[in-house]
Amino acid sequence: MSTVSRPGRAETAAERASRWVRPEVAALDAYRVADASGLVKLDAMENPFPWPGALRDAWLQSLRAIDLNRYPDAAARELRRDLARWLALPPGLDVMIGNGSDELIQLVLLAVGGAGRSAMAPVPTFVMYEHLSRVTGTAFEGVPLSVDLGLDLPAFERAIGRRQPAVLFVAQPNNPTAALFDPADLDRLMSISDGLVIIDEAYHPYSGVSVLGSLADRPNALVMRTLSKVGLAGLRLGMLIGPAAWLAELEKVRLPYNVGTVAQATARFALDHAGLLVGQARAIVAERERVLTALSAMPGVSPYPSHANFVLLRLGQADPDAVHEALRRRGVLVKNVHRPGGPLAGCLRVTIGLANENDAFLAALEQSLRETAQG
Ligand SMILES: *Cc1c(COP(=O)(O)O)cnc(C)c1O
Repeated sequence: MSTVSRPGRAETAAERASRWVRPEVAALDAYRVADASGLVKLDAMENPFPWPGALRDAWLQSLRAIDLNRYPDAAARELRRDLARWLALPPGLDVMIGNGSDELIQLVLLAVGGAGRSAMAPVPTFVMYEHLSRVTGTAFEGVPLSVDLGLDLPAFERAIGRRQPAVLFVAQPNNPTAALFDPADLDRLMSISDGLVIIDEAYHPYSGVSVLGSLADRPNALVMRTLSKVGLAGLRLGMLIGPAAWLAELEKVRLPYNVGTVAQATARFALDHAGLLVGQARAIVAERERVLTALSAMPGVSPYPSHANFVLLRLGQADPDAVHEALRRRGVLVKNVHRPGGPLAGCLRVTIGLANENDAFLAALEQSLRETAQG
C-alpha cells in the first residue's frame, strides 16, 4: 500500500479512501440492519410493549426541566446512584454507563485490546465482540460451542493457555442460542483467565441468573447489562459493573458526555417505573413459554429452551433461507442465523412479541413450511 497518489489523473474518493482507511477496517462489513417497514418485527429482541399514554405524558413532562444548552453531567451521578439502587449493587462494586453496551464493548477493547493482544468468545455469539475487536486492531479467536450449544471447556482451556487473551466475552445467556451456560463453567473460565472477563447479562430480566453476587471476590471480571432488551432499546443505555479499580481505568477511555442529558433523565424516569418493565418482562416470559409449546407441537420444527426474550429453533428438512424469505413475504421478520455446516445450520431466531404478533408468526411459519415443502 502506498500513501503517494499516482500523477496524471485526479484520484477518486474510493481510491483515496482505500489508501488511507486501515486495512482491518476496510476488510469489515458494516453492521447491517434489515428493513422492517410494514413487517411484524421479531428480529431484534425488542420489548414489544409501548408505554401507556399517561406514562408517556409524565415522561415528556419530566423532560421539561432539562437545560439542553448545558452539557450533561459527565459523571452521571444521579443516574448511577439510581442504577446502583436498582441493581442492588453489592458493596465494593461500582457502575459505569455507556451509549448502549455496544459502546462499552468498544471501550473495553480500546483499553485492553489493540495490536499484539487478543479477544476471545464462544461462537456463535453476539457479533459485536468480533466486529469491535477487528475495529480496534485486536486479534479475535472464537471458540466453537459444543454440539449441545454449551461451552467447550477443554477447548477453552487450550485456547486460553495458548493465547492469554486480554479479554474474554461471554454472553449469559448466549445470543443467538438463548441458552444459559453452566455457572460452574463460567467460574472456571474466570479462574483460568489472567485477562479481563466480561459476563454480558443483556438478558438478565428474562433469565434471572447473574454472577453479580460473586463479582467482588474476583480480580478480573466485570458484568455488563443493558436497558435495551427490557424495553428501552431506543434509549441506548448500557452498564458495566465491577471493582472500582477496573472501572477507573476504563473511565479514562470513556468520552465524558457519551450519555446525553435526555437519555440520563429518561433512564431515571424509567427506573422510577421499573415495576412496569418487570411486569412486561414477566408477560414476555409467559408468552415465550406459550410460543415454545406451540413450536414443539409443529412437525419439522425443534425449538431450544430459552432463558431470554427470543427463541432459537431448528428446522428439520426445510431450507432455512427459503422459510426465512417465505415468512417475510407473509409479513413477519425474524433473524436467519443459519450458516451451512455451522452449529446453527438450519436455525432461525425469533423474538417474542405481542400475543397477536406471535400468533401471526406461528401461522406464517406453518404456512411457510408447507409452501417450501411443496416448492
Ligand atoms: C442485544 C445485545 C447487546 C446490545 O446491547 P445494547 O445495549 O443495545 O448495545 C449486548 N449483548 C448481547 C449479548 C446482546 O444480545
